[in-house]
Amino acid sequence: MPLTVLMAAGPANNDRYGPPIRRALNAAGIDARLVDTAPPDAVDYIVYAPNSPLQDFTPYTGTKAVLNLWAGVERIVGNATLTQPLCRMVDPGLTEGMVEWVVGHTMRHHLNIDRYTVAPDRTWNHDCPPLARDRKVAMLGMGALGEAAARALQALRFRVEGWSRSPKSLTGLVCHYGSEGLRAALSGADFVVTLLPRTAETENTLNSETIGWMKPGAVVMNPGRGALIDDAALLAALDAGHLAHATLDVFRIEPLPADHPFWAHPRITVTPHIAADTRPETAAEVIAENIRRGEAGEPLLNLVDRARGY
Ligand code: NAP
Repeated sequence: MPLTVLMAAGPANNDRYGPPIRRALNAAGIDARLVDTAPPDAVDYIVYAPNSPLQDFTPYTGTKAVLNLWAGVERIVGNATLTQPLCRMVDPGLTEGMVEWVVGHTMRHHLNIDRYTVAPDRTWNHDCPPLARDRKVAMLGMGALGEAAARALQALRFRVEGWSRSPKSLTGLVCHYGSEGLRAALSGADFVVTLLPRTAETENTLNSETIGWMKPGAVVMNPGRGALIDDAALLAALDAGHLAHATLDVFRIEPLPADHPFWAHPRITVTPHIAADTRPETAAEVIAENIRRGEAGEPLLNLVDRARGY
């Protein structure tokens, strides 16, 4: 009997991700019906996004896993009705996008590209920017995305130091961890990238105290989640000239309200949550692989730890 895989990601996502998931299931030789509606007790797997009408998982008594289409799970992890295993998305296509965003925006600030293109001052000042090897990058969050971005920057010879919750030993990378490691990661960094999940612990990781630990003239780039940064502390540090710039992709309220001070601030660049999208073709293969694993009794990929919140 074919498996029943319920697309519960909202109509637009069902349309975008459904066809490649169907192709990936076929390619993996998985006999499955991909449906938009089904009796809850007949559903084997749910492909999910938190804007779905499906918010009560209680009737899905036979469901073996809920497969989130997005990397971040803060809008589903606290759902008390969800007792089934929850997997988040780790998609090679999404990771590539994030690496490109982080490298692109780091290079913009590293090479001071705005000075020559956006606001040229037409002076013949022959000061070359330093080399990447002379710049330190603090990568806050060394998970699937943070490590990939750190490795790409390291390949360009930036001095990358990572920060995570648990200790890590990664060849060629200095890794700090825990609350006491944050200061070491931030100290002396020219560029600070926040790629942490949103949890109770990571809220306001960058606040007036921790921003104060940063080197004067440092640049913050946040493609993680808006709540990682205390907005008022960030604005104060930019206005005081302690921070040179902030490039922000994610916000506490999205879309960023039209009257929000971030839009007009001369030292803030807003990108509209476009750092990295879940790419249908590559993500579909991850979904199919997890269903294959579920049926083969193998451990699921990218299982969320509910207690940790990510
Ligand atoms: P991940 O693999 O779960 O990695 C999370 C990292 O954060 C891990 O290194 C983890 O430490 C660290 N961390 C968690 N809590 C911490 C704490 N309290 N103190 C210090 N470090 C902590 O997640 P990911 O796939 O890299 O994604 C990261 C985030 O990027 C997502 O949660 C999402 O919010 C965001 N994102 C944004 C976009 C966008 O378009 N802007 C797209 C995709 C994802 P351990 O290694 O010790 O567990």
